[in-house]
Amino acid sequence: MQMALVRSTLLATGTISPTDPVPMEFIGEFLKFVTMHEVGHTLGLRHNFRGSVDTPMNKLHDRVWTSQNGVVNSVMEYPAPNIAADGGPNGHYYTTTVGTYDRWAIAYGYTPDDGRAYELARQAAMSGHIYGTDEDARGAGALDPTVNVWDLGEDPLAWSQERCGLVRGLWSRLPDHVLHDNQPRYELTDALTTLIINYARALAPAVKYVGGQEVNRDHTGDPNARAPFVAVPKARQREALDHIVQGGFSEDSFAVPSEVLAQLGADRWSHWGSSNTIMGRIDYPLHEIALSVQRGLLYQLTHPFRFAKISDSEAKFGAENVLTVPEVMDALTGAIWSEVWSGQARNVPTMRRNLQRLYIDHMTAILTHPPARMPADARSVTRLQLRELQGRIERALGSGARLDSYTRAHLTEVHERIGAALEAGLEVEMLGSRG
Ligand SMILES: [Zn+2]
Repeated sequence: MQMALVRSTLLATGTISPTDPVPMEFIGEFLKFVTMHEVGHTLGLRHNFRGSVDTPMNKLHDRVWTSQNGVVNSVMEYPAPNIAADGGPNGHYYTTTVGTYDRWAIAYGYTPDDGRAYELARQAAMSGHIYGTDEDARGAGALDPTVNVWDLGEDPLAWSQERCGLVRGLWSRLPDHVLHDNQPRYELTDALTTLIINYARALAPAVKYVGGQEVNRDHTGDPNARAPFVAVPKARQREALDHIVQGGFSEDSFAVPSEVLAQLGADRWSHWGSSNTIMGRIDYPLHEIALSVQRGLLYQLTHPFRFAKISDSEAKFGAENVLTVPEVMDALTGAIWSEVWSGQARNVPTMRRNLQRLYIDHMTAILTHPPARMPADARSVTRLQLRELQGRIERALGSGARLDSYTRAHLTEVHERIGAALEAGLEVEMLGSRG
């Protein structure tokens, strides 16, 4: 999937033509990296999914620097391929040498000298030794935005913004890069699917900033020892949330030009485990694909653990220093319901109606069938959001704005559903408090 993104980028920059393979240099670097990674496992190393943040953004394409330090500080990373998004000269696609973390970990593991091992173990806070592994990177409990698979550089948010921009730039001009004389049209379909998956992956690191904390394993008294948990500054949390909202929930988040959509062809190849449909469809299920990315983002941002982490962060770091539950919910509701949220009410296109129904399904469930361990505050905030939305929909319907039949039907239905959810939700809460 990531190699396909490299190919699309090389096509877009004119480095290769549609009939060319990817450069051997890229294949060679990838094979060397994977070999180093697997040998690292045999020597006893775990994954280091934080290994990318030891590399300054402006060194990513500096071959002299990365030849010495690696593109990442550890071959135990899952790095995204290193692609120059600005079209400038590309550095190493994959790290070509063991990194500073690997040397340190191997020195500790393999020294026969106990005194030396003790000394090395006290160096966790030293530059070049940053580390985080599988359980830090994955699952609803993951909270450190510097521990990610498939990202690069010391600033995962900046990387996320850059890569989303790269992908969006590619999908709007895709037919020019992919289709040439006698080329099957499904190659364009494959390329677009690849880009959308890469887009979702590029947005992923931003999610952990919301309610995020950096996690440090340093022991008391280690040189430069850091606090065990450090809150992501509020401004950075806000920036990440804005980026997700813009990239996933705004009116043009998945605005693939219709002239691109019109050229997507069907894949007729059905063999060796490959299907000739996409999710059972012969044509392109753009709405379903976009909605599945949005569903993933919405569920993660409103997960009970995220709200619980935020509540605990308020106590630990001060509510003024972290993003709060109402601020997260305001940003989501305002973006998802932009057509009726402010200004003159506007028609809601199909893709947006789907997203809005997803929002209503999910928020209704928080009120009526709250997921396990959902903090009570999050439910109150959800109730207030729905009440506010109900009022704005009412104003939109009564405003005299010329809305098409789909929009009017959709808003009327949602308005009724919110009313029912608010009532049912209150019953659930009263039963809960009596029980
Ligand atoms: Zn591995």
